[in-house]
Amino acid sequence: SGKLAGKVALVTAAAQGIGRAIAESAAHEGATVFATDINEAKLAELGGLSQVTTRVLNVLKDAEVGALTAEIGTVDVLFNCAGIVHAGTIEEATEADLDFAYDLNVKSMWRTIKATLPGMLAKGDGAIVNICSVAGSVKGVPNRFAYGVTKAATVGLTKSVAADFVTRGIRCNGICPGTVESPSLQDRLRAQGDYEAARAAFIARQPIGRIGTPQEIADLAIYLATATYTTGQMHIIDGGWTN
Ligand code: NAD
Repeated sequence: SGKLAGKVALVTAAAQGIGRAIAESAAHEGATVFATDINEAKLAELGGLSQVTTRVLNVLKDAEVGALTAEIGTVDVLFNCAGIVHAGTIEEATEADLDFAYDLNVKSMWRTIKATLPGMLAKGDGAIVNICSVAGSVKGVPNRFAYGVTKAATVGLTKSVAADFVTRGIRCNGICPGTVESPSLQDRLRAQGDYEAARAAFIARQPIGRIGTPQEIADLAIYLATATYTTGQMHIIDGGWTN
């Protein structure tokens, strides 16, 4: 039983944060889950769930994506969670920073979608959920140049895939989170020097008065995996930040 019973789900960046909450929720909803990440040790923490198979997958590597999807067979639901924050303005971001952000935040989605789409099309059914961001497309966020540029590109990617395959049973939606509790958020707060002040400032910009939880994002992701009348849309979940 469960909303995803009988479905095969592939989750990228599932070792921690939003991806991990999505992998756990998808399993809870009855999916057979392939949880992937480059962090093998953290990924192993998911191994106890009977519905979950863990696999090391670097989304920068076409061959790894191809090998894993060949092993899995048809994927019903693809959750693209891999992404990295580059801190800095256009002055600080080097060409290498921009290229890396594009590779990890955008081309990772291109790789996994290219690899899973044939199976979805053969079945005439498939759902793709991309973790985008309010940064870039909805709101300009200070000190997030390479991040904002590349996360905005994931909106174009999502809408393009949705438009091309809407008549063939494929839905592709994006989630635009605001600020969400995660290990990398903790790193970003610590990197600012005064952790408590940085955390207070992040909370102060959330009208709802707190930082979001990975589970709140996962709940939306599960909804989008099953919401049969929405495609090509960005779903903002940001505690009122951009309202
Ligand atoms: P996180 O940043 O703490 O964890 C990211 C995970 O990605 C790690 O487990 C890491 O090992 C994995 N990863 C890094 N490079 C990889 C690669 N090449 N291949 C496979 N996996 C790789 O988690 P998070 O903060 O929940 O972020 C998840 C997604 O949500 C990202 O796309 C991020 O941009 C997006 N997002 C996060 C927030 C937030 O405030 N946390 C807000 C908006 C959007």
